[in-house]
This record gives sequence, C-alpha cells and structure tokens, in this order.
Amino acid sequence: MVVKVNEHNYEVKTPMGMSFHVDLQMRTCTCEEWTLMKIPCSHAVGAPIRVDLPVHTRCDPASSTFYWKLAYHDSIIPVPDLSNLYSVPDDIATMQIPPPKTQRPPGRPKRSRYLSSGEVKELRDRRRSRGGNVRATMAPGITGHHMAKT
Ligand SMILES: [Zn+2]
Repeated sequence: MVVKVNEHNYEVKTPMGMSFHVDLQMRTCTCEEWTLMKIPCSHAVGAPIRVDLPVHTRCDPASSTFYWKLAYHDSIIPVPDLSNLYSVPDDIATMQIPPPKTQRPPGRPKRSRYLSSGEVKELRDRRRSRGGNVRATMAPGITGHHMAKT
C-alpha cells in the first residue's frame, strides 16, 4: 500500500507489516537498496506508479544507455590467444598446490539460513512439523497409563 505524504515523499507499507519511506526527489528509500544499487527498489517503484511517473526516470543517470554506450564508444581491441602470451616455467607448471587446510567450526552446524533484507521468518505450526502427526491432548479428568492411580 502506498500512502502519499507530500509531493515527493511516500510511505510504502508491505503486506508483511513493514513500512518504508520513499523520497522521490532525493532518490532514497529507508531500505537503502536505492542508495546502494542506484536503481529504484520495489518500494520506490510503487510510489512513481501512483503519481504516473515513468519508473525508468528514477534510475541513476550512470545506469542509462547513454553512459553505457559512452563506456564502449572507443574501439575494443581483440584479446590475443592467451597460450601465446608467455611460457610458464616448468617448475611452476608442474607444481602441485593442495587446497588450504580448513577446520570444521565447533558446535552443531546451523540448520536455518540468514534471512535476506525485508524477509520475515515464516512461523510454522510446530505440531505439524513432526511428520504430520498432531499430538493429541487428553481431556481433563481422564487418567492415562503413565498416571498414578488414586
Ligand atoms: Zn525500498
């Protein structure tokens, strides 16, 4: 959901309940992806759509095709055959380099991965995570075989 704060500022609320402040003039979003990548993040894409502003105009000029073409406007000289560049000395060519020695870190390895930015850990029903068996609960007043008889 996009909420207009003023002409250039918007609040973008995600379905997961997170809120981001998008500033179209400063080209920033509180998720910082726009600042780092110079390409609008998903929140910054939503706000220009609301004001009918072409999204591609929000990209950094350095990411435009103009600068891309400018970077390659000079002639590109073909790369020569790498095998003819120089000969490798025999002692280096026949050298055996083993992989570095690594040690397994102490403790049990982590089973869950680190979450990405903006990702929220999904809560699972713990009863169903045990192979689909749902632990039954006893009604009060009924004694099981493990309970002491009175
Ligand atoms: Zn963002």
